[in-house]
Amino acid sequence: MPNCPKCAAEVAAEDNFCRVCGSFLHRQGQRPRSNTVQQLISEYRQAIADNPDDESARYSLGLAYLYEGQPAAAAEQLVEVTRLVPDFADAYAKLAIAFS
Ligand SMILES: [Zn+2]
Repeated sequence: MPNCPKCAAEVAAEDNFCRVCGSFLHRQGQRPRSNTVQQLISEYRQAIADNPDDESARYSLGLAYLYEGQPAAAAEQLVEVTRLVPDFADAYAKLAIAFS
């Protein structure tokens, strides 16, 4: 299991953003699936268009928007995540950041 370079939390191999601190996870020695956060955002948006109840895609999109400095767009997704998964603690933590 790899670790986030910023907060050292364990991250899943397929995660593009740290679920704890929201850092964009650049992977060394591995071709990234997507080159830019903007590309990731369009991938997540497509995933949500295909399945509006995909809380994982919504959470990742929220993190991507936070990373891009778009807290209002992030909050919109994170609110949906907490509606879909009311005990998703990290989503509330990121919402607090989005509203700060
Ligand atoms: Zn982290």
